Amino acid sequence: MLLDGIQNYAIFMMDTQGRILSWNAGAERIKGYSSDQIIGHNFSCFFPPEDIKRGRPEEVLRITAASGRYEEQGMRMRKDGSRFLASVTFTALRDQAGNLRGFSEFSHDLSENKESGAKYRGLLEAAPDAMVVVNQAGEIVLLNVRAEKQFGYSRDELIGQQVKNIIPEGFAERLIADGTRSAAEALAQQIGTGIELIARRKDGSEFPIEIMLSPLGSAEGILVTAAIRDISTRQDAEAHLAQMEGRYRGLLEAAPDAMVVVNPAGEIVLLNVQAEKQFGYSRDELVGQQVKNIIPKGFAERLIADGTRSAAEALAQQIGTGIELNGRRRDGTEFPIEIMLSPLESAEGRYRGLLEAAPDAMVVVKPAGEIVLLNVQAEKQFGYHRDELVGQKVKNIIPQGFAERLIADGTRSAAEALAQQIGTGIELNGRRKDGSEFPIEIMLSPLESAEGVLVTAAIRNITERKKSEEHLVKTVGELKRSNDELQQFAYVSSHDLQEPLRMVTSYTQLLAGRYKGRLDSDADEFIAFAVDGCNRMQGLIKDLLAYSRAGTNGKVLREVSAENALKEALANLRATIDQSGAIVTHDALPAIRTDEMQLTQVFQNLVGNAIKYHRTEVPRVHVSATKNGGNEWAFSVRDNGLGIDPQYFDRIFILFQRLHGRDEFEGTGIGLAICKKILERLGGRIWVESQLEKGSTFYFALPETREK
Ligand code: ADP
Repeated sequence: MLLDGIQNYAIFMMDTQGRILSWNAGAERIKGYSSDQIIGHNFSCFFPPEDIKRGRPEEVLRITAASGRYEEQGMRMRKDGSRFLASVTFTALRDQAGNLRGFSEFSHDLSENKESGAKYRGLLEAAPDAMVVVNQAGEIVLLNVRAEKQFGYSRDELIGQQVKNIIPEGFAERLIADGTRSAAEALAQQIGTGIELIARRKDGSEFPIEIMLSPLGSAEGILVTAAIRDISTRQDAEAHLAQMEGRYRGLLEAAPDAMVVVNPAGEIVLLNVQAEKQFGYSRDELVGQQVKNIIPKGFAERLIADGTRSAAEALAQQIGTGIELNGRRRDGTEFPIEIMLSPLESAEGRYRGLLEAAPDAMVVVKPAGEIVLLNVQAEKQFGYHRDELVGQKVKNIIPQGFAERLIADGTRSAAEALAQQIGTGIELNGRRKDGSEFPIEIMLSPLESAEGVLVTAAIRNITERKKSEEHLVKTVGELKRSNDELQQFAYVSSHDLQEPLRMVTSYTQLLAGRYKGRLDSDADEFIAFAVDGCNRMQGLIKDLLAYSRAGTNGKVLREVSAENALKEALANLRATIDQSGAIVTHDALPAIRTDEMQLTQVFQNLVGNAIKYHRTEVPRVHVSATKNGGNEWAFSVRDNGLGIDPQYFDRIFILFQRLHGRDEFEGTGIGLAICKKILERLGGRIWVESQLEKGSTFYFALPETREK
């Protein structure tokens, strides 16, 4: 009756084999068996199966028999199979002769401990994290409802189990002493530090956790309380952030401008490769430095609040306006820069800010052609809202030529395919949400990431550029047409003028021949003027015809001897050469693929001028040719004549421009214009070097074209 009064303790006696002989009410309450049910059974049924297997009950009795008394905290099982941590005291019962007669057990359920247990449980259940209490053997002795939920077990299934069942690695090991340190020391090192491990639910699924350990000195020895936090969402967030960082870094590097991110203290926290290049520093040298080092004035000041406005306001006023400042390179040299500021907040915000600050539309695309990220410029240019584009195929906004570039074909891998595109502007068409298309230029840059190779495309709307290009093409076309018309006009008019002019000339010559000396002296003079005018007009018309014809007759390109062309020209100039007594010499001249008639014409004009514009001494002309830079022949015609003032070097090649009056030298001002036209049509050019009174050298160069 006395023993039955003790409700908080299980008290019973066993024989030497551990068979139960007596049973109190406390034992019935704690262990769940009535005395009828248990008396005669072996006490080993109170042990968990794994302990029975390793012979723990027998061992306990042996130890008790040997030492008289034995205490332990151990896991026990109730009749219903649930487990609890018990504090147990065994005593060996001996008769007066000292023979072993049996054993008694005093035990209680530790979680029922009034002083610590209840308080403890309250705390446990109030904790925001899953909590389990583990003993030195790695057994779970206590847990809260959150732990049940997180691991998907009921309390009873976990109590007494090895913590390894729910945290397979890294927890139990931390409780254990090794050669160099005690369990207490081992544990002490872990306390207060979050340890990231993997937890396993009852259904076998795993999830990342962070545990915080704290030891609890108790009557039962050191127990360890672990607060367990499911960090899968945090890890997702971290992974997301890392992913975002990766994506944005690609964007940052793909941006055509130098970009730096500066904190409110004016320190550089991030920069791209263009910034490295422009300022001549390596990244490591700049990160953490004051931005003042690279932009001495006007930048840091803009980050700072003053009496009338906050820093945010100060900054807000600057946003989107280009500010002209000076940059300073590592070597101390300065250069003018324009900066655009934009504020950003978090880590992700930091990259997003960069992205949004980029002047081009930018999209990041997965290898499968899916858009994963874009900036506000992209929204604007394509007329979509961001949400409408993320996850969509890039083909929707760039129908052709982009997605194809991401794809491997028979002869090259995707990476190779891409490598060929990098850094080259590719002209494509963009399509807006409303279906309208516009010309774009894209620059691709690849970015290795956990998601595979992501491709960042900087997209520039080149509508304006295209317009001006088209305008140019149109203008050139119009110019050509009007030029052709002019040519036609010049040809037709000069050709048709010849007929009436021939008549006028013939009749004035007739007048001059028949009536010279038969009219008065004035009449003779007038007739002479008329004849002179006719001759000049004939010359002019002949030259104009030559000019309008120059280069128009289908070019007959043949391998011709420049020497022959020169000889032909000199034959045409025979009279002039004989009259002036000029001496014309030449070096060996090359064979060249060109139009022979036109080359002859050029030589004739240049040698003709060289003789015509002479000084008092005998005109000397020398013709030569050199290979110029490997792929063209430069011919020269050098004279010892009057020379030309350098200020007129360009003018003399213009139609009708002359430096000498007709009273000094006959001429129409067409000869050099013809040469220029011919040479330009043949893909060459003409120029002059000269000094007044020192003679002139006319050069012309022709490309050395090969037969195709
Ligand atoms: P033209 O000889 O019929 O006047 P060109 O077009 O051949 O017309 O020459 C234009 C002008 O360039 C000439 O009027 C002359 O003033 C100047 N010029 C051309 N060749 C020479 C030369 N070899 N020396 C000096 N002046 C020259």
